[in-house]
Amino acid sequence: MKEDKPKDFCIFCGRNRHQVDWMIGSEFGLGSVCSDCIGELNRLVEEHKRSEAIESLESSELKSPKQIKAYLDQYVISQDNAKKVLSVAVYNHYKRLKYFHSGEDKDEVELDKSNVIIVGQTGTGKTLLAKTIARLLDVPFCIADATVLTEAGYVGEDVETILTRLLQAADYDVEKAKRGIVFIDEIDKIARKSDNPSITRDVSGEGVQQALLKLLEGTVVNVPPQGGRKHPEQKFIQLDTRNILFIAGGAFNGIERKIALRMNTNAIGYSNSTKREEVDKDNLLQYIQPQDLKSFGLIPELIGRFPILTHLDNLDRKALKKILTEPKNAITKQYRKLFELDGVDLSFEPEALDYFVDVAVEHELGARGLRGIMEAVMMNLMFEVPSKKTLKSFVVTRQYAQEQFEANGKGLLKDRNRG
Ligand code: ADP
Repeated sequence: MKEDKPKDFCIFCGRNRHQVDWMIGSEFGLGSVCSDCIGELNRLVEEHKRSEAIESLESSELKSPKQIKAYLDQYVISQDNAKKVLSVAVYNHYKRLKYFHSGEDKDEVELDKSNVIIVGQTGTGKTLLAKTIARLLDVPFCIADATVLTEAGYVGEDVETILTRLLQAADYDVEKAKRGIVFIDEIDKIARKSDNPSITRDVSGEGVQQALLKLLEGTVVNVPPQGGRKHPEQKFIQLDTRNILFIAGGAFNGIERKIALRMNTNAIGYSNSTKREEVDKDNLLQYIQPQDLKSFGLIPELIGRFPILTHLDNLDRKALKKILTEPKNAITKQYRKLFELDGVDLSFEPEALDYFVDVAVEHELGARGLRGIMEAVMMNLMFEVPSKKTLKSFVVTRQYAQEQFEANGKGLLKDRNRG
């Protein structure tokens, strides 16, 4: 029998290659490591990561709801109610996480998760709110689009792929991903088509809601690291969702009718008519209740897993104008910075800002459209300025804005009409 060379022994446990499954590393000339020791090393690395994550959680100072709201105020205009509700939800979520890791959860009090549903028109700040919170907390964040999800086995994406995105956002650090935030966009699109539970299968609606339940309540999920079903050979990564905060958003178009109906029904039998007069009919969303989501087509189990429900107000002209100038990274501030780097002092006439708002309102482009409108207006200037070395300042007037938008902005309106 050939004698084992020193490199055929595991440098950790000393066993030779006949005593173990396999041995690697001899090719580097530094000695080999056996399969058992590699497994053990892996476990130690994971344990180290976990204790590091817990340590950072314990040492990190929990921001108070007021501090969280103050941070949100820097980036998100109006939406005070939602900001308050979210600040409390996030504070409680991370308090719960600390409690969970401290081992104190062994007593009988179990703190529920504070998953949140935000109802509001598109472009009113749902994604912005979730994203800003994730940035404040410095946790992995991902946006998942509910419209592409289908029940397992059907064409589309399995619900587990939501977590693939979170893992990617966490650079595949499972410990980090376990404390991340997932924003599920367009949750209203998986509502079932009628309030009556249907006998036929509803692949994209109720089935997906059912599939989401286990993710939301907290369980260990097998996540395909590459997502999808295209890589059947990929090994699953196990991810515990107990401490992941889920924030869902949706426009729930037409839900105001359900709210009005419920409020009317409830009012029957009351002689006190002043109560009805106090109802602000222009903003019915503020009265939203979980049962309205049920009438819209979300199943009660799903609603139950989002204990916190809040709404966003539609943005009026005043809010749109503030969005242009006030947030820390407001669009006008960004343009000013860009021009400053070219040595040009850029400013906007208040009437020019009114013009951007006018276009956004007139063409129903909302807050999301403001950037496109400004881009159309600023395009020529951005093209010219770098070669105009003598230009030291520029004021965008209403007239300039209008001329430029009429010349370059038509596509923006056409695209929208097509969509
Ligand atoms: P949605 O409600 O559809 O998720 P978003 O949060 O994606 O809307 O908003 C789209 C864009 O519009 C944001 O990136 C931001 O530039 C702007 N925006 C919308 N709402 C607000 C707001 N309340 N404050 C500041 N900017 C906003």
